[in-house]
Amino acid sequence: MIDTLKHKGMRKKLIEELRLKGIDNELVLDAMMDIPRHLFFFDTAFLHMAYVDKAFPIGSGQTISQPYTVAFQTSLLNPRKREKILEIGTGSGYQTAVLAKLGMKIFTIERQQALHAKSQSLLEEMGYKARCYYGDGYAGKPAFAPFDKILVTCGAPHIPEDLKNQLKVGGRMVIPVGEFNGVQHMMSLDKVSETEFEVSNHGDFQFVPMLERTDTRD
Ligand code: SAH
Repeated sequence: MIDTLKHKGMRKKLIEELRLKGIDNELVLDAMMDIPRHLFFFDTAFLHMAYVDKAFPIGSGQTISQPYTVAFQTSLLNPRKREKILEIGTGSGYQTAVLAKLGMKIFTIERQQALHAKSQSLLEEMGYKARCYYGDGYAGKPAFAPFDKILVTCGAPHIPEDLKNQLKVGGRMVIPVGEFNGVQHMMSLDKVSETEFEVSNHGDFQFVPMLERTDTRD
């Protein structure tokens, strides 16, 4: 699959749309302008949907996040080069690619084996550096903690203690929290000391649920 001028044109329009919707982090917009989102659509029948601002099915009952949501969460993280980030929910790998483009050092976990395998090989093929793991994001990656940033891209019923513990003091976690099959609140947690967090709510979003354990038979 290749990136054509037509794709670039569609991408440019999408970026303008994100700007109109209030995204103003130029680094994030530049990264998204560079990344061929259509290559993360595993089913080529739907390539024409790649530059519409919508979530879309990627198999295993999961979705590639809506571009606005990716832009919003990434901006909220305030990403900086060389920061160490833990991402929960690799999915298609698109959000991972955005973080890689921004120069972050990425550890990403996916609980669906098939998606993990596909996104890992796609990211490698495209030259985006990320350490991809098959596993349960609730446990995080204690061996590589602490992280400067933690990004959760599935809807969590609560904020997992293990993830709070794996965040650096001075670091930030962005996580959508709320009931399964309902609306989630986009929360940011700034870790101000080993035991204290400043928490803010940035509005309502909808995500696929953050499920426990690794199981493809959901
Ligand atoms: N960032 C992805 C979003 C994919 S949707 C993208 O842009 O494509 C969220 C993903 O979280 C799904 O692939 C789902 O399988 C995964 N997920 C759900 N619960 C999880 C858990 N406990 N640990 C790791 N991944 C999980």
